[in-house]
Amino acid sequence: FDILSSVFLSGTNHAEDQPVHLKLGDPAIPIQDNLPEYAEPAQRYCPAQVYEVIEEGGEKRFQINAQNCVHCKTCDIKDPAQNINWVPPEGGDGPTYANM
Ligand code: SF4
Repeated sequence: FDILSSVFLSGTNHAEDQPVHLKLGDPAIPIQDNLPEYAEPAQRYCPAQVYEVIEEGGEKRFQINAQNCVHCKTCDIKDPAQNINWVPPEGGDGPTYANM
């Protein structure tokens, strides 16, 4: 495994019926100007493939796979648009790191 695979497969535990801990302040920002500086850094900085651009029928949309999040907070710190509202998840949730 490379480091990204190890993080991605670390076994994040989320109750997805809890309020989502990652929200966009303005959902329109990631798709402005054909997914420019915002979406690409968010995708690059996240080690867990939470931010994803989906292409369907010639349309691009931004998807947040919150269940993958390992709570590193990098996206919140590096978000160039400061549009990600990162809320600490409920106690007991999050990654369970294991030796791989
Ligand atoms: Fe990705 Fe942000 Fe979660 Fe870190 S806190 S895993 S960068 S979504």
